[in-house]
Amino acid sequence: MAPAPRRNPDGSVTVPTLDAGDVRLSCPPWCVFQHGYVDPPAKTDIVHRGEPVWALADVPEHGPVSMVEVGLVQWPYSDRADVYLEITTDDGQLECGPAGSRAVAAALQQHAGHILAMVGQLEEIRGAGR
Ligand SMILES: [Zn+2]
Repeated sequence: MAPAPRRNPDGSVTVPTLDAGDVRLSCPPWCVFQHGYVDPPAKTDIVHRGEPVWALADVPEHGPVSMVEVGLVQWPYSDRADVYLEITTDDGQLECGPAGSRAVAAALQQHAGHILAMVGQLEEIRGAGR
């Protein structure tokens, strides 16, 4: 378990790093990460994370299942310091900007239509007793 972070009176956090000593940072309002690290991170590995959100389905055969985790993420001291959406896919965790995030959302909408079309096929197959 990660230790509690060092909070400063102004609300900022001091993170001891491997390569840059103590780094004092303030979190953006959306960051819910506590910044307590088991091992000191490299400065560029300091990350702000938003609350993760999943698509949830309560499936009769399996109970509640979660899919496609998404949340805001930012490595403020790295060479990609912009804020991204981190989207968990079968290919791993993808950091996407607005265009990439819209592409993922469009693919998921299209896939939902495909699943619904296949439900129709499933009902036909079951109805025919095959
Ligand atoms: Zn943060």
